Amino acid sequence: MHFQTLGLHSNIHKAIIETGYSTPTPIQSAAIPLILEGRDLIGIAQTGTGKTAAFLLPLLTKIIEEKTENEGSFIRLLIVAPTRELVVQIEENARAYAKYLPLSIATIYGGVSERPQIKALTQGADLVIATPGRLLDLLRGREKSFSFVKYLVLDEADRMLDMGFIPAIRQIVKLLPRKRQTLFFSATLSRDIEKLTHEFLTDPKIVEIGRRSNPAESVTQFIYEVSHHDKQRLLLHLLEDAQYNMVLVFTRTKHGAERIARRLEQHNIKTATLHSNRSQNQRLRALQDFKDGKVHVLVATDIAARGIDVDGISHVINYDFPPHHEDYVHRIGRTGRAQAIGEAISFVMPEDRGAVRSLERFLGRGLVHKKAEGLEMNVQGPPPQASTERSVTGFIKKSNQFSPRESKSRNISSRNRSFVKSTKK
Ligand code: AMP
Repeated sequence: MHFQTLGLHSNIHKAIIETGYSTPTPIQSAAIPLILEGRDLIGIAQTGTGKTAAFLLPLLTKIIEEKTENEGSFIRLLIVAPTRELVVQIEENARAYAKYLPLSIATIYGGVSERPQIKALTQGADLVIATPGRLLDLLRGREKSFSFVKYLVLDEADRMLDMGFIPAIRQIVKLLPRKRQTLFFSATLSRDIEKLTHEFLTDPKIVEIGRRSNPAESVTQFIYEVSHHDKQRLLLHLLEDAQYNMVLVFTRTKHGAERIARRLEQHNIKTATLHSNRSQNQRLRALQDFKDGKVHVLVATDIAARGIDVDGISHVINYDFPPHHEDYVHRIGRTGRAQAIGEAISFVMPEDRGAVRSLERFLGRGLVHKKAEGLEMNVQGPPPQASTERSVTGFIKKSNQFSPRESKSRNISSRNRSFVKSTKK
């Protein structure tokens, strides 16, 4: 399928071509025609599938086709997303796709001055992208700003649910006209999420790309067993490999993130951090430096990393094993974006083994186990099984795992590859 056949506005098509996209991704091919038809939509798609363009391209087309010349600005499209990073990311995408359209775009999120945001609400903008908390704060007394909203997008709804934003969303939705088109995107479709869709959507179509909750297929996933005190050594060891050229490291806490960054800087590895103790400007700077290649490693916590959209991340490292399956899926989706090949590595301490077992069950596949060559480590806990390529638990069948050949084709460094051997049972 080509973008030309999807019925998008010609100026949007021109901008897409300049962005370098040649063909629509599966979620785009499936969702764009339904959105153009005016259907409410539930999009179940992992991050990295091209879902942002899947809703922006048709909605920008609709808005521009409905807008008459010399018409004043009023908010027609409202996009609500859980974090400011994600809002900024969606804004960047929208500005790129709307490059040749006379549309005004405004963002609303906390941590920055309210004044331009209030102006956007009172004077109007064609498109507003907002986080729920700040939006609700600013709306008090300005409820009329939303009288003309025709399109609503709730992005990463599962994350908004986890972060406790649903009451705020309910209040915001109450202020919108009943007659509107609503699009709802989520990485997973849990029972709670399904309930929300009944509340906010009318006769929706569901577009589901890939298996529910399954990480992007292009990401190769590995596990290193490691004790707590060896984690930093293991990280430094892996980063010596030149293939680890753009690395996103996840930690559980912001202090942990700072500690790692200091250690890496001591070894002359350019590092930035992204967590909630950092100001909005510091976060945006960290992301920009990472995108520009000025820093080699970005160490982030889960919340702050929501919405990171950086092409070319070679490796995601779960320095601390994620507490929830959804976090794992989200973290590793930061690499392997838009069909690129990436690697996700998890450091697993003996006490994480139960969580790994549960994750493997959730993913329906075992994770390939590796050892760091040339690095002596003393991992406590039950002795590992004889083979080095196995599921940590051993209960997932061999056929689900990557073969050594597959690993080779994914261009894993020879040092690491030598540890991927097949299991003979
Ligand atoms: P998303 O799932 O929206 O976070 O998008 C993931 C990445 O895919 C972003 O870097 C987009 O710029 C990129 N992308 C979106 N659509 C396409 C496409 N049709 N072809 C290539 N890359 C795309």
